Amino acid sequence: MIYVSTRGRAPALDFEGVTLAGLASDGGLYVPETWPRFSHDDIAAMAGLPYAELAQRVMQPFVGDSLAPDRLLALTTAAYGRFSHAAVTPLVQLDEKQWLLELFHGPTLAFKDVALQLLGLLFEEFLARRDDHLTIVGATSGDTGSAAIDAVAGRAKVDIFMLHPHGRVSAVQRRQMTTVLAPNVHNIAIDGSFDDAQAMVKRMFNDGAVTGRFGIAAVNSINWARLMAQVVYYFAAALQLGAPQRKIAFSVPTGNFGDVFAGYVAAQMGLPVERLIVATNVNDILHRALAQGDYSAGTVTPTAAPSMDIQVSSNFERLLYDAGGRDGALLADQMARFEATKALQLTNAQRDHAAHLLTSARADADAMIAAQRWAFDHCGQVIDPHTAIALHAARIAEGLPADVPVVTLATAHPAKFGDAVMAAIGQQPVLPARVGDLFDREERYDRLPGDYAAVRDYVTARATPRNG
Ligand SMILES: *Cc1c(COP(=O)(O)O)cnc(C)c1O
Repeated sequence: MIYVSTRGRAPALDFEGVTLAGLASDGGLYVPETWPRFSHDDIAAMAGLPYAELAQRVMQPFVGDSLAPDRLLALTTAAYGRFSHAAVTPLVQLDEKQWLLELFHGPTLAFKDVALQLLGLLFEEFLARRDDHLTIVGATSGDTGSAAIDAVAGRAKVDIFMLHPHGRVSAVQRRQMTTVLAPNVHNIAIDGSFDDAQAMVKRMFNDGAVTGRFGIAAVNSINWARLMAQVVYYFAAALQLGAPQRKIAFSVPTGNFGDVFAGYVAAQMGLPVERLIVATNVNDILHRALAQGDYSAGTVTPTAAPSMDIQVSSNFERLLYDAGGRDGALLADQMARFEATKALQLTNAQRDHAAHLLTSARADADAMIAAQRWAFDHCGQVIDPHTAIALHAARIAEGLPADVPVVTLATAHPAKFGDAVMAAIGQQPVLPARVGDLFDREERYDRLPGDYAAVRDYVTARATPRNG
């Protein structure tokens, strides 16, 4: 499989290349040159497979020659063997129409583990081949940092430096990062906000003195391999509910548009997806874009669902590219205008194409709490704020055929957002036993001033330079 940039000017790469590359050199995002397609019979033959085997079958066309099937299966078996549920991503029934897909049974209790556990293994595999070294630098307001650290802790040829704003992440989130004591993990508490930390990371990616010596890499959801790993659970859920004979709808709590784009990819591959519902909180740029064609960034309002508090959704570019007929020059133009004015109008072609599959809904705090109460009072299910936003959108969706089940993606374990759950339903969710000693473990992190030079010197003193 060959990958091309959404902005049409970066060199094409194979799967190994895009996994290590992150952003394309023309500022675009990598996508497969064509969507691989499974027949009705291919999909029917996937029913009943263990998750790791299903993952190998769904991902093999994207991986191509970069990994032999038995090697890819070894990696998916290792990655998903670390999940605490034998089904990896189990489905839970709510009522005759509504279902939850629990994506939070990985080591750090958020759906990001599904992709990052595999990505950590892919990094190790490809770096060993090239005898090269990667230095991951990231800023986190919570979930991504802990999932990325867990995925690469102790792995050869990778160092990770994760910045978090000192005193501004929850104790659970901080401890999930700082109690990982592997020597290749470096936690940095920055004096300042998340945006300050993020700005320092961006500056480091553009600092030739750093990038000249070190293989600096990102682990955010612009990485194609992350999206690819997320396609698998759309297949897993749909097969359980009767695909390929029956169509399925999904409701997805959306921030950077990575998770829902994976559902879009599943549909392009032949999975019978009736609809993808893009659920946003009051930070509703995507709802405005899909409902009105107006993709314009505002200011971020902090909510109880912080992983959806975004201004700009980086993966939306991949949809615009595909929906706009894969015209790299057109998209490069659109994105240049967006970067200058923070606003973009979708073309009619983009809107029409998106509308075949995607609808959107927005939930404010009251709607979110009402969804948490409904799940608890009527189904005995405790759900986190992100999941609640998507469940609200699933329950108000109109025009779906009566026999189409609606699957809400449950993206975080409720105990990760215990205070918000307590406020909504009056119950404090308990952390699962396997992370229950989190508060007894030793923590390790360094605190640095909110000053770029201090962070740069810290990283360059500890990272391993790349070879050659
Ligand atoms: C990251 C995250 C999301 C948003 O996913 P995107 O792929 O960025 O759209 C939703 N819920 C939770 C709990 C998350 O951690």
